[in-house]
Amino acid sequence: MALINLTTSTDENFVNQVETLSGQKISECYQCGKCTAGCPFSFAFDYPVSQIMRLIQIGQKEIVLNSKAIWLCATCEACTTRCPCQIDVANVMDICRIIARKENKVKEKDVKLFYDIFLESVKKHGRIFEIEILMKYNLKSGKLLTDADLGPKILPKGKLNFFPVNIKGKDSVEKIFTRFVEGIKNNE
Ligand code: SF4
Ligand code: SF4
Repeated sequence: MALINLTTSTDENFVNQVETLSGQKISECYQCGKCTAGCPFSFAFDYPVSQIMRLIQIGQKEIVLNSKAIWLCATCEACTTRCPCQIDVANVMDICRIIARKENKVKEKDVKLFYDIFLESVKKHGRIFEIEILMKYNLKSGKLLTDADLGPKILPKGKLNFFPVNIKGKDSVEKIFTRFVEGIKNNE
């Protein structure tokens, strides 16, 4: 976990920006730490989630957007469930990722790559096509053997399709992407 080295440049608008985009009252967080206590990924975060909340409150935009934590968050919502102020903390982490993407500050490039490939697969097939995702991720990340050891265990059980199976409402899913995902990318 990193020690906080506060930057001199604070952005007083940052808390408003995150509050507006997430619809959450971040200013109401009183640092009880229950979100951090329940977060299963705290061990991997550079800043625990309660510190991310505090950093947002005090306008430390650069630290938040350049943190690993916002990318390693798995959106499990344990923090949201535990917050006594009913703040949807997982949503706040999500919004920070979106802002970081828009401002081209992606600390964990492989996580972003995985998101992009995953969403591309959903757009194309209306659901995920696991083998395509695995191959694209391994090739583009340069980690060719990632999860290769799982293949011999999963393949005999028929858990993976070798050909994509498109859902019936695939076109509707594609329209959702056109309306939302590509709208976000255009603003990046
Ligand atoms: S949603 Fe993210 S920050 Fe919240 S508990 Fe889960 S992993 Fe931690
Ligand atoms: S649980 Fe809620 S109030 Fe407590 S530190 Fe986390 S966000 Fe703040």
